Parts: sequence; C-alpha cells; structure tokens
Amino acid sequence: MKVPVWNPAVEFIEREALEALQLANLRKTVAWALKAPFYQRKLAEVGLTHPGDLTSLRDLRDLPYTTKDDLRAAYPDGLLAVTLEQALRLHTSSGTTGMPTVVYHSRQDLDCWTELVARCIIAAGATASDVFQNMTGYGMFTGGLGLHYGAERVGMLVIPASCGNTSRQLQLMRSFQTTVVHATPSYLLHLHAALASEGITRDQLALRKAFIGAEPHSEQTRRKIEDLFGIDAYNSYGLSEMNGPGVAFECVHKTGLHLWEDAYILEIIDPDTLRPLPEGQTGEMVMTTLQRRATPLLRYRTRDLSHWVSGNCPCGRTHRRLARIKGRSDDMLIIGGVNVFPSQIEDVLMKIPEVGTNYLIQLEKRGSLDRLIVKTEIYAKLVAGDLHALDDLRERIAESLRAAILIKPAVELHEPGSLPVSDGKAKRVVDLRPAF
Ligand code: AMP
Ligand code: ZN
Repeated sequence: MKVPVWNPAVEFIEREALEALQLANLRKTVAWALKAPFYQRKLAEVGLTHPGDLTSLRDLRDLPYTTKDDLRAAYPDGLLAVTLEQALRLHTSSGTTGMPTVVYHSRQDLDCWTELVARCIIAAGATASDVFQNMTGYGMFTGGLGLHYGAERVGMLVIPASCGNTSRQLQLMRSFQTTVVHATPSYLLHLHAALASEGITRDQLALRKAFIGAEPHSEQTRRKIEDLFGIDAYNSYGLSEMNGPGVAFECVHKTGLHLWEDAYILEIIDPDTLRPLPEGQTGEMVMTTLQRRATPLLRYRTRDLSHWVSGNCPCGRTHRRLARIKGRSDDMLIIGGVNVFPSQIEDVLMKIPEVGTNYLIQLEKRGSLDRLIVKTEIYAKLVAGDLHALDDLRERIAESLRAAILIKPAVELHEPGSLPVSDGKAKRVVDLRPAF
C-alpha cells in the first residue's frame, strides 16, 4: 500500500535527529515560558533561569509539573508569553466547573497547529479531492476551527456544519456528497440512527471516512461505526491545552495513534507516585509543547491514561504511537468499593448485538449501598416482541457486565432514540450519590 504523507521530511525523520530537534525545541520552549509570569515563578522555584541549563531530554524530568488547577489559577493571562499584539486567537477549555483554562496562539502557533492537523488528515488517507463535513462545534471548542483550517490547508472542500441539527447534517451530506466527516463517536451513532427517520439510505451518501475523537470510546464502538456506515473510522486525539485536535491520530493502518513528537514530548507517569513508568505500561500522559510560542506548557498533566504501542508502524513514520485512551485518571468510578471505568461498561454493551447506539450509567444510593443502573437503547427489531425475550436480554446484559466489572447492575432497556443525546460530548455517567 502506498503511504499517503503530508510532510515526509518530518514524518519519517530518523529518531536521533528527532530527539536532537526535540532538545533544541525544548530549550526554545523554556526560553519562551520564562516570559510568562507563571513560569518565571515556577521555574525559579527549581533554580532554572536559563534554557541552556537543559543539556539532555532527561533534564525535563527535573522541571515541575503543570496542572489544570495551575492553569485555572493563572486565568486569564498568567501563562501568556507574548504581547497581546502578537497573540492572534485564544481558546478556552470546555471547563465544566469553575474557571476555564486559556490557551493563546500567535500567528506562528496557528500555522504550526494547522500543519499538524494537515499531517493527520493525510495520514488517515483523505485527500484534496474529498468533501469534508466538520460536525464538531465551532467556537471555543477546538475541534471546529482546528480541523477546519487543517482541512483547508490540505485542499479539501470544507463544509463547516458545526455540531447538532441532525436532519440538516444529513441533508448537507446528501446534497454535497460528503466523503469525510469529523464528529464524536456518539454523535455518529446518533446520526446513523436518524437515517431511517429522515428517509435516507446509506447508498444515497458518499461517505468513506470518519475522524472520531473528543471522547473515550472502545474498539467495538469504532467497528460499530465502520459497519453501520460501511466506512473507515480513525481515532483522533487532542486536548485544548495542547492546541486541540492534531496531537495524535491514526494512520491508514490503524495500529495506534501517531503522536507528533516534533511538536510534543510525552511522558507517561504513575498518577499516584508521579514517577515515570517503564515503556509500555499504562499511566497518565504528561505533555510538553515544543512549538507553541504564545502559551508554552511544560509537563502538563493531562489526566488521560494510555501507553506507548511497541514496534514500528507499517507506514514507516518514526513518531511513536499511543494506544487508544483508556479513560482519565480522574473518571474512574468507585462502586461499592470496586473500581470501574465507564469504558469497560461500554466495551461489554457494544459487543451485544441487540444493544443500540446510546446508553447511560447511573449511580444511586439505596440505603447505604451503591446501586449501578445501566440504561441502554436496544434495536427493537432484533428482539422478538414478547416479554420473555426482553427479560432474557436484560439478564444477559447484566450477567455480561458482572463478568467484566464484578458488579451486577440493574439493566433498563429503552427504545431507540429515547435516551438523552447531547450535541457535544456525550454525558454517559449520572452520579446521583450524595457527596461524602
Ligand atoms: P477538550 O480540551 O475539551 O478538547 O477535551 C480534551 C479531552 O477530551 C482529552 O483530555 C481527553 O480526555 C478527551 N479526548 C479527546 N480526544 C479523545 C480520544 N480520541 N479518545 C479519548 N478521549 C479523548
Ligand atoms: Zn502509521
């Protein structure tokens, strides 16, 4: 298979040259960081006042971590490392509570970001001939503008549809024969469920690829999207603190997400001890920007959990690959003393053919005991209309979950389209337990 590539000189760079580039860019990054009040203080605490003090990539480990709370405390401009004249745009995170986190971008920063996204799009096998419909929110959320500019740079015809309004999305897809979309996995599943009610068949669409990201999802969910639409779906990882999309992306081989190591240094640490983990072990991803001038970030604790994938990718890119995100070091649920990742529940549900496209995990207290309720939509036509069949299915789902997570939940079956859907990221967990 011929490997599609945007920037061969960088994407196939020898490891030794890549590491030399990382060190040079790390020194520049520290020099830029020292212009921001937050890092002047933080780096002075560890006695670093000159970037030349960093003599190897290992020295990065002596620098302090930066946390989301640090970013919030520095709101609005404590991390700004250029003048306001040099800053061209800012994005804030989709913060749910309290202060958002802010990232400023210079012209050069936006250019670098766009280049990274262009690399991802080409690596996933899209081309200038594709018609690209961007179904993620335009605005503060970085999925909209981030993918938009990357897709324009590649030369695709871009439809900036933004999120929501499913019938309009489908109408646009049909009218303009959209070949590539960008959306959250949950939204794509919702979109598929809406095809029938809009009177549209798969054959009337020209879709061939989807970029899916912004929320954790399983391999089963990817397959489900691929099978339902008859397309290829590629995992896209990013976070607003590291620009947004364009941090790590799957190439056509789908063997893990290539992380652009000329733009980011990734460390994987034990979130409890904060020590680096041996290669291959799952831990919290800690990231350092290498190209961002206006808001450099050093050793940012993402709270996302993943591990490096070993071996080389058949595409020949030298940038290492990450396994799909397993969850966050802070989204783990403790149910009756048992640790459960929502992604484990999803894994089980998506393997059951009768299970539809949307589900909800609800936690309640009954007396002093935790109660887990899994509400899931089902494909009505796969279940014979009698009550026994429904009871059997409920029991089968509950038992499969018990085998995987060691807790037997109460299972509620719902009709397709009846559980709440959000336009942005799916909210899968409703925790009604009183805070302790
Ligand atoms: P935001 O800064 O609002 O864009 O949110 C970024 C967060 O979304 C990341 O830190 C991850 O927790 C999550 N995320 C983004 N892309 C993915 C993905 N492909 N798989 C799993 N989680 C993702
Ligand atoms: Zn590859």
